[in-house]
Amino acid sequence: MIAYLGRIVHNNDAESKLDDDVSSISKSLDLQGSIENGDVSSLASKDFGGLYSVKPLFLIKPSGAEDISRVVKLASRTSNLTVAARGNGHSINGQAMAEGGLVIDMCSTEKNHFEFLPINGSHYIDVSGGALWEDVLTRCVSRYGYAPRSWTDYLSLTVGGTLSNAGVSGQAFRYGPQTSNVTELEVVTGKGEITVCSETLNSELFFGVLGGLGQFGIITRARIKLQQAPDMVRWIRVVYSEFEEFTRDAEFLVTQKEGESFDYVEGFVFCNNDDPFNGWPSVPLDPGHEFNPTHISQTAGSVLYCLEVAFHYRNSDHPTVDTAVNGLLGRLRFVEGLKSQVDVSYTKFLLRVNRAEEQVKANGTWDGPHPWLNLFVSKSDVVNFDRTVFKTMLKDGVGGPMLIYPLLRSKWDDRTSVVLPEGEIFYIVALLRFVPNGPSVEKSVAQNREIVNWCIKVGLDFKLYLPHYQSKEDWERHFGNRWSRFVERKASFDPMAILAPGQNIFRRDLPNIIIGREF
Ligand code: FAD
Repeated sequence: MIAYLGRIVHNNDAESKLDDDVSSISKSLDLQGSIENGDVSSLASKDFGGLYSVKPLFLIKPSGAEDISRVVKLASRTSNLTVAARGNGHSINGQAMAEGGLVIDMCSTEKNHFEFLPINGSHYIDVSGGALWEDVLTRCVSRYGYAPRSWTDYLSLTVGGTLSNAGVSGQAFRYGPQTSNVTELEVVTGKGEITVCSETLNSELFFGVLGGLGQFGIITRARIKLQQAPDMVRWIRVVYSEFEEFTRDAEFLVTQKEGESFDYVEGFVFCNNDDPFNGWPSVPLDPGHEFNPTHISQTAGSVLYCLEVAFHYRNSDHPTVDTAVNGLLGRLRFVEGLKSQVDVSYTKFLLRVNRAEEQVKANGTWDGPHPWLNLFVSKSDVVNFDRTVFKTMLKDGVGGPMLIYPLLRSKWDDRTSVVLPEGEIFYIVALLRFVPNGPSVEKSVAQNREIVNWCIKVGLDFKLYLPHYQSKEDWERHFGNRWSRFVERKASFDPMAILAPGQNIFRRDLPNIIIGREF
């Protein structure tokens, strides 16, 4: 069987034979799921970024962990096959792809686990690694009235895909990223072993996999912390013309105790003009609200700042909501007259980007390329970043949201594989480019590179989030003093460098070598 697969790997241009090969491999693997040819037009050769396309050998739709284990073990018996778990393919730079390798479509396992677990007075849900967060939300809330505490802005992402990165949104200042809200995982390692792990059981694997960029194992089940779901959310946007006032208020809100602040805090930068995608019209929450620019001072610069907050409440709390919200808003220094607010159900609030997706799909922009850039920037450097990047390089916008909001390092667990800037407060910056509304793909990619190069040149304390690097030097710099731990984890859990080749960190074709270094 192995010699046979090796032959296919080396002759994989012989398309006519592939159909026969698929059925023989499927039989020999004894998969409960199914297997398809890797076609350049198949979903496994594409991602949301639309910048890269590579042809896998096969796309496998496993029925569960056992199938995944068989696939990984098979790859380990060849000299060069790699395996990429594909969540929902919402990466930007081919991270879930495997050129000439085996791509595992995790969505085929999405319904395998869904168990509500009250344990010692707390509540958890066991879900599949391939489950979409939007399904976790709707099923949890409608069946149990509970919901995960920490989210991403957009929910058509898989549990395993976001846990392999971090999973960040406006709740992370309070509860940490999604990686801080999981207590147990079932993982298929790069050796094909199915292992349950937690803070106390196989802990090195547990923490390695969280934020591990898919390098140490494929998450097949996750146990997620829950909280009681509120009924409603008051969702508010207020505008600032000065960055220092915006950051002062955002930092004030994220450092207050629970119950003394909003439940969600984010922010974004927008252009001080009437451009429909980049400017004033991108601020109001309701089509009936108008952005009145006469409130902006004549001295304001090329860009303005919007603080976005949300307050959770139950229907029975309604009479006290105004008092609580106005008390909090009264402590902020936003531009008077530039406030937009709506009350929406909790699920509608969390599905806000999914609704925007429907609108953007209707005008064809969703399926185009997305040269996005995400960074974590230390508080100590964020004013410099604003001055050089937002006020200068990006003063005309990026054709989509330019998010910026503060997070607290103490809410992240240092034992995971995620790396962060130094200092307690740092900012997430997300340049969510939609090309038809902003610069061309080439210009956007060049601008992203210019921003990262500038950050390196001036010695900014930053890390890429959803990182994408090509060289060993860049990965070493990215991980800093955590690089040796990352390498050791690879040697322990995926010693043949089979998993997640699209991240470009370790190379299977040079056995036992990590971008040039032996382990
Ligand atoms: P994929 O892109 O398919 O995979 C990502 C990586 O994880 C790959 O290396 C893959 O091999 C690996 N992987 C996938 N599944 C597993 C698994 N089960 N076990 C182990 N490894 C696995 N991120 C945020 O943090 N906050 C946001 O608010 C946010 N909003 C977004 C909005 C949009 C519209 C998009 C496109 C992305 C957004 N992201 C956000 C980024 C998102 O977290 C990443 O794209 C992430 O990779 C999840 O996508 P996915 O599930 O499609 O995973």
